[in-house]
Amino acid sequence: MTKMQVDEQELKKKLTPEQYNILRQKGTEAPFSSPLLNEHGKGMFACAVCGNELFASDAKFDSGTGWPSFDQAIPGAVEFHHDGNFGMDRTEVACAKCGSHLGHVFNDGPAATGKRFCINGACLLMNKQE
Ligand SMILES: [Zn+2]
Repeated sequence: MTKMQVDEQELKKKLTPEQYNILRQKGTEAPFSSPLLNEHGKGMFACAVCGNELFASDAKFDSGTGWPSFDQAIPGAVEFHHDGNFGMDRTEVACAKCGSHLGHVFNDGPAATGKRFCINGACLLMNKQE
């Protein structure tokens, strides 16, 4: 996927300070703070910066961690980076189109994929299906 050029100044106007901190400075939202946690409707979850569709509602599950969780991403929609911050060995998940930070992926998922995408709800916009 070709990387989109992001205008940081424009983005600061478009996003809330919390969203900007998470998406562009790799922050983390407080657990149980996202309204999307209890979103069980059908649709697609898209990147709050560029609108790239990242996760389908079918992949969403309740992990109990306090962050929206998915067992798989739309193929090609996300990219993975090693994250050794805080002395931990984690895999960062970022939007493949605009490079924005989304969350992390762990290998302890309950579904067939074995993956648990732990995603900040502030990074997502839901495109609801009728
Ligand atoms: Zn994006």
